[in-house]
Parts: sequence; structure tokens; C-alpha cells
Amino acid sequence: MSLVTVGFDLASLTTGDIASYSPIDGRLLGRVASTTTSELNDALSQSVSAFHQWRTVPAPRRGELVRLFGAVVRKHKAELAQLITLEAGKVSSEAAGEVQEIIDICDFAVGLSRQLYGLTITSERREHHLLERWHPLGPVGVITAFNFPMAVWAWNASLALVCGNSIVWKPSEKTPLTACALFHVLNAVCASFSDAPQGLSKLIQGDRTIGEHLVKDRRVTLLSATGSTRMGREVAAQVARRFGRSLLELGGNNAMIVSPSAREDLAVRAITFSVAATTGQRCTTLRRLYIHESKYDVIISRLKKAFGSLHIGNPLSDDVLVGPLIDETAFNTMQQSLAAARVAGARITYGERVTMAGLSNGYYVRPALVELDSMIDVCKEETFAPILYVFRYRHLEQAIAQNNEVAQGLSSSLMTQDLSESERFLSAEGSDCGIANINIGPSGAEIGGAFGGEKETGGGREAGSDSWKAYMRRQTQTINYSSELPLAQGVKFDIG
Ligand code: NAD
Repeated sequence: MSLVTVGFDLASLTTGDIASYSPIDGRLLGRVASTTTSELNDALSQSVSAFHQWRTVPAPRRGELVRLFGAVVRKHKAELAQLITLEAGKVSSEAAGEVQEIIDICDFAVGLSRQLYGLTITSERREHHLLERWHPLGPVGVITAFNFPMAVWAWNASLALVCGNSIVWKPSEKTPLTACALFHVLNAVCASFSDAPQGLSKLIQGDRTIGEHLVKDRRVTLLSATGSTRMGREVAAQVARRFGRSLLELGGNNAMIVSPSAREDLAVRAITFSVAATTGQRCTTLRRLYIHESKYDVIISRLKKAFGSLHIGNPLSDDVLVGPLIDETAFNTMQQSLAAARVAGARITYGERVTMAGLSNGYYVRPALVELDSMIDVCKEETFAPILYVFRYRHLEQAIAQNNEVAQGLSSSLMTQDLSESERFLSAEGSDCGIANINIGPSGAEIGGAFGGEKETGGGREAGSDSWKAYMRRQTQTINYSSELPLAQGVKFDIG
């Protein structure tokens, strides 16, 4: 099956100032044009009109649109996944997993469309009652990063749509084609859905310049931005200046603690996956590892073996586990971080470029294992590449403190069979991250939970649980069905 049936034809995308090169081999995949500010202005006007109509459509009916969208995505799962592999370099199984996430969040959002529950609250006044209701918010701007070029938009879009909002998407300039394809899928569904107004879903292409215009525009009631902490710092300030709402999903610097009772097999697999998946380019990638001194030597030796035997190569081949980095800049940044660690006395295993016959323009690397005696500056930053900094620890309290020592607060995990350790890690004095796992790595979340992190990760929550509330406005309503007008708190105001 081809995506041409939904109006996306890769072969026809040959003009425009944004060129998309495949990280697999550096070949040109296609071109799209940057959106101009006047086109953005038109898109936002249409988005506002679309919102005014869409908010009056009953939520379960809005859910029906999302159900149909999810069904078409399911039908085209293989082609969408292949496009992710071509443009973002994800290995086939992970790319298919990313498309599965879209399907899962659609299913979730369909159920949610009948569960946008408010509250009833008892009133202190006779014959009164209080309600809390949730109403649609307005046009939702969604800025996404290159590493999840489809799923992150889908998390936002499916919830925003069932909540009664219109959506405007600015994808990463590194993955404009995957965005284009998914946008066409939704548009094709909207075109045959009688209640979907024109302009319900908009796509704008370009780099941060057009993103900045989107961020500043007052018509965007919620700006959901996924990307680096640097980006989030700029976006948050701009949105706050106009008293808009922002939902930030920013960088991570995730740790795992391997305690004395940890199952070694589980630990080695969880570590290797969490470091190497998406070639270390996940916000939840494992970057810091604290191993109890009693287990240090055995775990390190098994990790060296596991990292050394990872099958690195063309991500289109089913048996490959590690594909390329997104581009040369990512490779150079990785090498700079390794050089800084080396200067600070780190013992480094692997991390070198791996050359592939026929793929010499791709940047393939073997994940690096960097052993350190204590935290150095470079470990406190997120280098978006597969580098694992490893430390030994003696007391759990010390390892938890180190888990929490960095500025980011996305994901964390503890490998243990000891209940008291696990409870301590999950308690108020444990991990300070938005995600805390036991006996799995920090990477690979399910859509059912709220996804996001604290501190410089931005504090936003997306996907499951009650994340939908970010896409709606809350209204407290008081209804008086008496013939009196008693005032709250017993206040008297008799006008005779
Ligand atoms: P990036 O910050 O370079 O770009 C992300 C997006 O923001 C792009 O669309 C870019 O054009 C746009 N942008 C950049 N500056 C902007 C500005 N000032 N105003 C408006 N838009 C702007 O990030 P990237 O390299 O594409 O992605 C990697 C980063 O994303 C990592 O830090 C990673 O941890 C983070 N990320 C976080 C999550 C999460 O859920 N927490 C998920 C995926 C990626």
C-alpha cells in the first residue's frame, strides 16, 4: 500500500528551500518549502475559525475523527515506519514502535472523548450547586523535535482534537517529510468527515524562525514544545510574556542505579537498550549509570561485551539494532563530549565512528562506555548521542542524591530485588524525576502514563493519565436554584 492514496507522494517533493537528507547515507530524500510569515498568519486565522466550529461538535463525535485517523495509520503502519527510518535513521523495529504509539494514543483518545469528566462540588449555600467543567481551549501549536518525528505530534494532536481544539504543527526542519506524510493522513480523514471544519489541522514548515513567530502569536492558546532545554527556555519566556500556556517536554539526563541485589541479566539488557536505542537520541536515553561497588566489575565487563557486539548498520535491515546519528553535527558533538571526559581522566571504551560499506556519508558510532570516579561538567549536560557515564557507589542514599544532582529531571530507574530499596527510590525522598522505574531502564514509556519531567525538562505532561487537562480550560460554575440570594461566607449585602 502506498501513501499516495492519502495524498503524500515523496517523489513529487523536489522543490523548496528545506532539503531532507537521509542519515543512512546522506542522500537527498526530498524538499519542502518553508512557510512564510504571511502563510502562517493565514493558517492561524483558519485555525481560529476551525476552532470556533470544532468546539461545538460533541466530544464523542470528535473522538470518531481520531478513531478514523488511527485506523488509517494502522493501515499504513509499514510505509509510515519506513519513512521514519529513512528520514530519522531509526531502526525498523523502533520506527514501527513509533507508529504503534500513534495508534495507541488514538485508541486512548477515543475512549477519553467520552470521559472528559468534571466535578460536582457541594455548596455551602442552600439550593445551590457547584460544578467544574472542562471546555475546549483554542488553537494548539505543536513544535516537535527530530527524534520522534511522528509520535510526539500524535500525542498532542489526538488529545487536542478530542478536547475540541484546532492544531498547528511545526515539525523539526530535520524531519519535514515524515511530518508531511502524517499530516496528509489526517487531512485525508478530515476531508471525508462532515463535522471537521476547514483548517482544523495545519502544518507549517521551517526552522526556529517560523517557530518563533508561532510562539509569539496570541492566537495560539497552548504552545506545546518538545526539544532541547535551550529551546524551551526561549519558548517559555515568549509564551509567558503574552500570558499564553506552554507545555514543555525538554532535554533529559537520565540515570540508572544497579543495586547489590539487581538481576545482572536484566540490568545488562536494560542498560544496553536504554543507551543504544535510537542511537542515544531519545530524551529518555540512559546517560549516567551508578553501579554498587560489589557488582561494578561484573557489570562493566558484561557491558563491554554487549556494547562490543551490538549490530550497527543500515537501519532498514531487520537485524540491525543501532542505526546512524542524525547528522555530522551530532557526531562532532559526541566526539567533543568524549574528548572533554578524556581530559578529565575518564577511561573510555568505544565511542568511535563505525564505517559502513556504501554508507560512507552516514555517521555510525559504537555506543561509548565512559568510566569516571566522580561527576564532571560534561556529565551534567545532555549530549544527544550514545554515551554512558559510569560511576561506582557504596550507599543507596548517595546514588539517589547523584541521580538527582543534575538540572534535568525526566527519567530514572533502579535495578533491585530489595523492596525497601525500591520503596525508598519511589518515595518522596527518592528520585526527583517525572518518571521512576524499577527493574526496567529509563527509556521506552507506554502511552497510558503521563509522560514528562521536572526541573529543566520543563514540567509538562503529555499522553496518558489526566494529561488531557492541559488542552482544556477549567470553568467553575455556581448554580442557584433558590428564590434567595445568599452570599458565600455569610456576607450580608442588603440593598433594601
Ligand atoms: P531542538 O531544540 O534543536 O529543536 C526542537 C524544535 O524546536 C525544532 O522544531 C526547532 O525548529 C524548534 N525550535 C528551536 N528553537 C526554537 C525557538 N527559539 N522558538 C521556536 N522553535 C524553536 O531539538 P532537537 O535537536 O530537534 O531534538 C533533541 C532534543 O529534544 C533533546 O534535547 C531531547 O531530549 C529533546 N526531546 C525531549 C522530549 C521530551 O518529551 N522531553 C522528547 C523528544 C526530544
